[in-house]
Amino acid sequence: MLWNEIEGLVRGELLRRGYEEIRTPQILTTELWHRSGHYDHYRENMYFVEKEDRSFAVKPMNCPGACLVYGTAMRSYRELPLRVAEFGMVHRYELSGVLHGLFRVRGFVQDDAHVYCTPDQIEAEVIDCVEMLEVVYGALGFDEIDVKLSTRPEDRMGDDAMWDKAEAALAGALEKHGLKYVLAPGDGSFYGPKIDFDLTDTLGRKWQCGTIQLDFQMPERFDLEYVGKDGERHRPVMIHRAIVGSMERMIGILIEQYAGKLPLWLSPVQA
Ligand code: ZN
Repeated sequence: MLWNEIEGLVRGELLRRGYEEIRTPQILTTELWHRSGHYDHYRENMYFVEKEDRSFAVKPMNCPGACLVYGTAMRSYRELPLRVAEFGMVHRYELSGVLHGLFRVRGFVQDDAHVYCTPDQIEAEVIDCVEMLEVVYGALGFDEIDVKLSTRPEDRMGDDAMWDKAEAALAGALEKHGLKYVLAPGDGSFYGPKIDFDLTDTLGRKWQCGTIQLDFQMPERFDLEYVGKDGERHRPVMIHRAIVGSMERMIGILIEQYAGKLPLWLSPVQA
């Protein structure tokens, strides 16, 4: 019941905000993960399987699948921003010692989405993601949200000019929306800078749930294009975003937050 209500809340916002919902395969060829950069930067956390002399990986992230969906057609600037959402199950290897109830698990579902847009649309799209996040967190009863802008890490793809542009775009959106944030130098993803949102629960503990990440790299790696107004081919920018984050973890947080006495709309037992 809890799962379905939370999923329903998020899905309602997806429909209002012009997202399409997709479902991508759980297991994809290892070549795809070489292409996406996950093999080089993330393979320690991935599970691999062999069949018919081919190597496959269980997806640790939904992004490459979303890029394949984008690439199924030649896109026009008229289709952008293209907002693609997926309640995607991902598996990530974690040491057994760090597993912790619903909070840290090896398989979980993200309320994931990828927005493909032009550079001019970045700011408006990031602001739309922030607004959706505020609606969802408000409904779940979290008012205190800490915002953190994480910049380029040591292990990264892309040149400094690309990182300058991406970090400035995220900071610009936060300032325009009037959100206070702190800088976390070096905490970005290997493919781009990100904004993280930490919730504070009634016990004063902080949980990182929402994230908005800018990515100029993956569209390059997957050779994604759109035809612009000028008739020329251009690269779209990709925004990765999750609001609830892990469904499992959010359910764990809510059960503790409300000590089991959930808000009426979420409560499996109504009376
Ligand atoms: Zn992604």
